[in-house]
Amino acid sequence: MEQTPAAQESDSALRTPHSTLPSNHQPPTTTPSPPLPYGRHSVDADDLAAVIEVLQGDWLTTGPKIGELEAAFAHATGVEHAVAVSSGTAALHAALHVLDLGPDDEVIVPAMTFAATANAVLYVGARPVFADVDPDTLLVGVEQLERVATARTRAVIAVDYAGQPCDYDALRSWCERRGATLVSDACHSLGGEYRGGPIGSLADLATFSLHPVKVITSGEGGVITTNNAAWATRLRQFRNHGIATDHRQREALGTWYYEQLELGYNYRLSDLHAALGLSQLRKLPGWVARRRQIAAQYDTIFAAHPGLRPLAVRADIAHAYHLYVIRMIRDRWQIDRRTLFNELRKAGIGVQVHYIPVHMHPYYQQRLGTHVGLCPNAENAYEGILSLPIFPAMSEGDVERVISTVEQIWQRYGK
Ligand SMILES: *Cc1c(COP(=O)(O)O)cnc(C)c1O
Repeated sequence: MEQTPAAQESDSALRTPHSTLPSNHQPPTTTPSPPLPYGRHSVDADDLAAVIEVLQGDWLTTGPKIGELEAAFAHATGVEHAVAVSSGTAALHAALHVLDLGPDDEVIVPAMTFAATANAVLYVGARPVFADVDPDTLLVGVEQLERVATARTRAVIAVDYAGQPCDYDALRSWCERRGATLVSDACHSLGGEYRGGPIGSLADLATFSLHPVKVITSGEGGVITTNNAAWATRLRQFRNHGIATDHRQREALGTWYYEQLELGYNYRLSDLHAALGLSQLRKLPGWVARRRQIAAQYDTIFAAHPGLRPLAVRADIAHAYHLYVIRMIRDRWQIDRRTLFNELRKAGIGVQVHYIPVHMHPYYQQRLGTHVGLCPNAENAYEGILSLPIFPAMSEGDVERVISTVEQIWQRYGK
């Protein structure tokens, strides 16, 4: 997967959470606290034990842990079928593959997302069409779909940005009227709910990422959920070269014979990864509760802040808070977002920017002729957003440190 500069930065923040600050930023007499990343995985002793058990067994890949993870994931998200693959990006690719799209078909994607959402549309040879987002939630809604839909619209990918579920009832009925398929890119929102229904069960297909910075992790990994049995079969085939049976099924039948029925990929998840994901899934409710607690603490400061605002959160959802995003009220600051970002990083607060609107990337400008000005709400938001650290292992002291550091910078640079 090609990485954006932001993705590279986030990866290095993950790899070196305890790297020291440059010496010119260290006060001579006190030991600096290690930098806080914006997100970080937690791996406990039971996770280690689960992986070791697989390493000591007979199946390192395509073994029983895949089915166990899939069953637990289907249960947690209230669907009939969950299919595990090697990444969230592979999950998006597989979900779009089963829709049999062609070069004349358009798939609407919000501009405010990670590039992988739109890239998957290109993988299947269809055309991504960028929709703007609501200025307060940064979620795509019916209003934004209406502006870009055409007779060629075959699918919509709804991104639950930051972990806040989209308005699925409205999106679903819009898609039904149009004969379009609704795909949920739920890479941020595992553990979230919409009007009491778990994320995963609200669209025709939903995709999840188990990357270390997401709500739970398998190292790398992804899952597609659906209630459509025929799609589930094709998703399993697609992750295994397009071959109708896997090697364990053939071994059980005592046969060498297999058939490749379509062109697929090797998007399999190993049993090591599945065991880690399964062990982490048990902790999902507790971890999401902790994320909400941290978000509530941030909210008490930023909801009425003179220079900063949290994103709007609707009342009919339960947020999963993969990200906690604040926006600068730009005319209240003497500095721009870049300087605020740098000041926070210098103070050891690993903030990040999610995201550069996808249509602004040089690749998309060159390939599809997209341009600045296409999605003004996303572009305007991009100029002022910052993701603050939020992850279950953050201590009370960590949260207070983020808040007090932001406050010190506001005292210095606020108007
Ligand atoms: C992380 C992410 C992906 C890609 O997931 P990977 O597991 O990294 O491939 C896709 N869409 C969104 C919105 C994401 O945040």
